Amino acid sequence: MHTYKGIPCMTGIAVGEALVMPRDVEHHIHRRQVAPDEAAREDEKCRAALAKAAEEIDREIEQLRGYGNDASEIFEFHKALILSPDLAQAIRTHILDGHMSAEYALFTAMRRWHEHFNGLNSQTAAQKVHDLVDVERRIMRHLVGGAMLGFGSLGREVVLVAHTLTPSQAASLRKTKIKGFATDIGGQTAHTAIMARAMAVPAVVGTGDLSLRIRGGQTVIIDGLKGLVIVDPDSATLEGYREQERRHRAAFDALVAERDLPAETIDGYQVEVLANIELPEEVEMALAMGARGVGLYRTEYLYEECHEPSEDMQYNVYHEVARSLGGRPCIIRTMDLGADKFAHEGQQDGERNPFLGSRSIRYSLQRPELFMVQLRAILRASVAGDVRILFPMISVVEELREAKRLLARAKEELAAGGIPFRPHIPVGIMVEVPSAALTVGQLAGEVDFLSIGTNDLVQYSLAVDRVNQRVAHLYQPGSPAIMHLLRHIIAVAQKLSKGVCVCGEMSADPRFVLLLLGLGLREYSVAPLAAPLVKHIVRSVSLAEAEAIAEKTRAMDTAEKCEAFMSERLAALVPNLM
Ligand code: PEP
Ligand code: MG
Repeated sequence: MHTYKGIPCMTGIAVGEALVMPRDVEHHIHRRQVAPDEAAREDEKCRAALAKAAEEIDREIEQLRGYGNDASEIFEFHKALILSPDLAQAIRTHILDGHMSAEYALFTAMRRWHEHFNGLNSQTAAQKVHDLVDVERRIMRHLVGGAMLGFGSLGREVVLVAHTLTPSQAASLRKTKIKGFATDIGGQTAHTAIMARAMAVPAVVGTGDLSLRIRGGQTVIIDGLKGLVIVDPDSATLEGYREQERRHRAAFDALVAERDLPAETIDGYQVEVLANIELPEEVEMALAMGARGVGLYRTEYLYEECHEPSEDMQYNVYHEVARSLGGRPCIIRTMDLGADKFAHEGQQDGERNPFLGSRSIRYSLQRPELFMVQLRAILRASVAGDVRILFPMISVVEELREAKRLLARAKEELAAGGIPFRPHIPVGIMVEVPSAALTVGQLAGEVDFLSIGTNDLVQYSLAVDRVNQRVAHLYQPGSPAIMHLLRHIIAVAQKLSKGVCVCGEMSADPRFVLLLLGLGLREYSVAPLAAPLVKHIVRSVSLAEAEAIAEKTRAMDTAEKCEAFMSERLAALVPNLM
């Protein structure tokens, strides 16, 4: 039995056989041979997938007309790769002569090209590798019938161990037999971790080099609460964890049973609990978990699926999200691309500090034609419900003004075309950069509401990369600096009578739920599955108790003291919590 320590990112236990995803591939393709008489069928399958991928790319090129040449040129290059006779021939040979399955033949043929471009060692070649990955994914998706990555075809329940997973890979796990995962790299508020929580998949990230040490088929326990990965557990440990898994499920079920009770303190103060969603399908889960609406819709996931989604495509998605919320709040955040989320093409020339580079609103303002497509789509969808718009990562007021100027232009365009929209759509900003926190009074004067993004606020205030496990111990939401900023932002918002919400991961951490309440917060936006827990905690305390906690932490000089104190108070006020 070996125990590896990582960073906990989804509380829950998963026990299963390890499926190890090799480092150099993004998707796991089983090495599968087929019988000679099945080869023709596999070959046909592959040709059909190539044709579908080419047709799909044609449609996307068509949708890109009018948005400049750069995007369509990239796709033209992808199309040329898909239609390349060399690729088709290589795949054919692997299937007909090597009796490989269609997926494995594609995978093998693409590896050759990867090796070729990797060997060239130039910036342009690195870009080509990026393109290859994209093209391979696209063809593979058609080959395996839309279920990305081949995980969908797993016949038995497993625990995935990988060097790293992208957020969309983590998202794709929800419909598979993968019960949990562990990755070598990553941090607690990285988007892969956030996705794991949204999908309720127990996970541990930042385990070092676990993926190199483990063999497929070994028994693995993922302890998402303590951040442990236990390989080949002895029978007592295994039984202990199985029992814990059962208890955890029972506690969760009990919370879910009371999800529709109001989020109201013992002394009658109402709190709003909203949900963070990444995918439109999550609305259903959010409402089923008792959330009062969507407090943060991370639209960047659309851009991962579709590269640059058209206005109509976005309109349809946003409209459906707003409609299914039936008049409840629907806060749509504009694309927050870059850094640890999805790369945009501006990043392909390699920024040295992507978190400080062209990400989020900065990228949106650098690509006004792309941004306007999204703004028009959100505005058009705004007639379907209580749609509000949220700009991410504002660091100076000029960015906000420019974003609002483009929003006004989008409104004018729609009005000129006689297209309806909500004229006074509320506009808010994410407060997630120290400069925004420090000048929140000024910024708040120009918006309708604020949303505190503690994931980034902690990262930027403490200068700790949120996805780097080497500095994860310094990622301290409870540190005095963060407490100071939170107090300030909430107090200013109250003074100016602006709505303020916390939508970072901190708002779902039971200890911080109490503290934030005591600091004056009345709006939380959390992963759908965390909503019943947050509501339960709010219902278990009085405002006076929460305020006493907030007051006591004022004098604490380390995150450790603050977090230990909050844990102790939580255990006293809300016993038997999970
Ligand atoms: C945040 O930074 O806290 C936040 C909610 O945004 P994201 O995690 O998407 O960067
Ligand atoms: Mg953020």
